[in-house]
Amino acid sequence: MTADGANGAFQDRNRRSWGRVARRPHKVASPRFRDEVQAVLVGGCQSYKSVLGVGLGRSYSDSCLNPDGAVVDTTALDRLIAFDGESGVLRVESGASLWDILEFAVPRGFFLPTTPGTRYVTVGGAVANDVHGKNHHRAGTFGNHVLSLGLMRSDGQELRVSRDQNPDLFQATVGGLGLTGLILWADLKLTRIPSSHISQQSIPFHSVSEFFDLACESERDFEHTVAWVDCLSAGDNLGRGIFSRGNWSEVGSLTNEPARNRLSIPFDPPAMALNQFSVRAFNEAYFKLNKARAGESTVKYGPFFYPLDAIRHWNRMYGAQGFYQYQSVVPPNVARDATAEMLKEVSHSGQGSFLAVLKTFGDVKSPGMLSFPAPGATLALDFPNRGEETLRLLSRLDRVVDNAGGRLYPAKDGRLPPEQFWRGYPDAETFREYVDPKFSSEFWRRMIAG
Ligand SMILES: Cc1cc2nc3c(=O)[nH]c(=O)nc-3n(C[C@H](O)[C@H](O)[C@H](O)COP(=O)(O)OP(=O)(O)OC[C@H]3O[C@@H](n4cnc5c(N)ncnc54)[C@H](O)[C@@H]3O)c2cc1C
Repeated sequence: MTADGANGAFQDRNRRSWGRVARRPHKVASPRFRDEVQAVLVGGCQSYKSVLGVGLGRSYSDSCLNPDGAVVDTTALDRLIAFDGESGVLRVESGASLWDILEFAVPRGFFLPTTPGTRYVTVGGAVANDVHGKNHHRAGTFGNHVLSLGLMRSDGQELRVSRDQNPDLFQATVGGLGLTGLILWADLKLTRIPSSHISQQSIPFHSVSEFFDLACESERDFEHTVAWVDCLSAGDNLGRGIFSRGNWSEVGSLTNEPARNRLSIPFDPPAMALNQFSVRAFNEAYFKLNKARAGESTVKYGPFFYPLDAIRHWNRMYGAQGFYQYQSVVPPNVARDATAEMLKEVSHSGQGSFLAVLKTFGDVKSPGMLSFPAPGATLALDFPNRGEETLRLLSRLDRVVDNAGGRLYPAKDGRLPPEQFWRGYPDAETFREYVDPKFSSEFWRRMIAG
């Protein structure tokens, strides 16, 4: 089949990423079977400046966009290929979503070794961003549980990459932002679970310092830890929030959650609907409500890991201008001060939204050259896009992160200064040697232009 062939035809389609800041015209092909991919990819590389494999577009900005070139949408390559019920090793096509895996695995007593905050991401996307979850301090990143990958380069050659076979290319591909080739399939080691429920504890905290004390105290006994932080609170309330920690419950059934999300944001609300007054009021109410409800409970895995999956198109709530997510990690020795400084900046600016997450990363080494997680604290904040005003705030946050010796998460970024990227990722120069010359993205062009 050629790039113009029936199933692999590249068609004109507008694409945007999860933050909805920009919509760009793309050439998109969607192969349905693995044996179609070679012709599509080679044809695309001949016809267009560059190609990029993409999944469900849950990255917030331009790392999953390639408007000057073409993209290969992998979401129809969604088959589970083989499973060993003894070892928990699953071979799966790269376009399968985490939800596809959970539907199969949970009733059999298995779960993903680690999971991001949405199950609507593909395996290829999870590998290419080396995603992390609430159990980073125990399990490390997604890539820590990938045994091997099938990777197709632009010349149509399929390589097997693992810690033993083509190990350098494996390290470049895990967390490699899709730039080393198209991931066709992955062998993942799933983890056993006793039930599909989590025994969780919810604890209010009143300062950044209290958060760090709780995180430190919880790491030994709790597999999952995370906190919501009120990013608009100030003064004595600066850095208050709700800490949540939990373990798999030993009792309970092994049942899946229905994938349907009952709530939906059907259209773009006016940008004014979300302003500092409404967010402050919401945060105040949320903190008080959760403080009153603090304590222990047993919950299904869905609301625990994927609360936002319950609302379809929640990314529309920021209005037609979209939003930025800003996720940083700063090293442990400066984490308290840098986190407090960032929260002060955000609170003072009056920007920011309800969605603000604070978590500590442990010291399990990430396998990827460009993996984002590193020991320390990670703060993820959403900001409605208010143009220059927002960009100025993000630049102020950049300075805090940079001075702290931290870095930003490319999966979330849409405006990171290139020099800060190269400083934050010391292995990025080595990584460059493994980038397939026909693969590119808007993010990557921004970084290498700088
Ligand atoms: C609500 C929400 C919560 C989130 N929570 C977390 C979290 O807790 N932790 C975290 O780490 N991330 C989190 N994310 C980010 C998300 O997990 C990542 O952006 C993930 O990579 C998205 O996967 P995707 O299938 O949508 O891939 P896309 O966004 O389409 O692509 C992501 C990257 O993967 C590459 N890629 C995709 N498929 C392939 C393939 N087959 N071969 C080669 N490259 C490929 C693309 O080129 C791109 O660079 C969250 C996102 C949302 C929307």
